[in-house]
Amino acid sequence: MTPSKEVIVQFFLDNKNRHIPFKELQEELYRKVPDLDRTTIYRNIEKFISMGVIQELALSPKEKIYQYIFEKKVHHYYICKACGKINKGNETLFDKVEQALKDVHDFYKANLSLVFYGFCSKCESEINAPP
Ligand SMILES: [Zn+2]
Repeated sequence: MTPSKEVIVQFFLDNKNRHIPFKELQEELYRKVPDLDRTTIYRNIEKFISMGVIQELALSPKEKIYQYIFEKKVHHYYICKACGKINKGNETLFDKVEQALKDVHDFYKANLSLVFYGFCSKCESEINAPP
């Protein structure tokens, strides 16, 4: 491992339970590896995403946000397209999805990382309210 990769992994390990905006990761990396360039950071991030170590969360159109996922079984979110409200998914639902994957597809240990886009109940009722 190159030092920059180590610093990135360590940073994600130290912040396992948080969402990490790219800017914050970049600032941390510049502090520890001052000669690092943006391209290298992105290249490493892409690599970690493809390895399933971290995940890019589509939580904001303005910035890239990442999360450490390697040891996590379930991580999914519901995002309202109207008000932007974010809800964390519920594990019970995904136990059912995992069971269905076994029963229907004979598929095991799925990594259930998903973002659902839709409408929260408040926005849904406003959309469907009579004029
Ligand atoms: Zn909403």
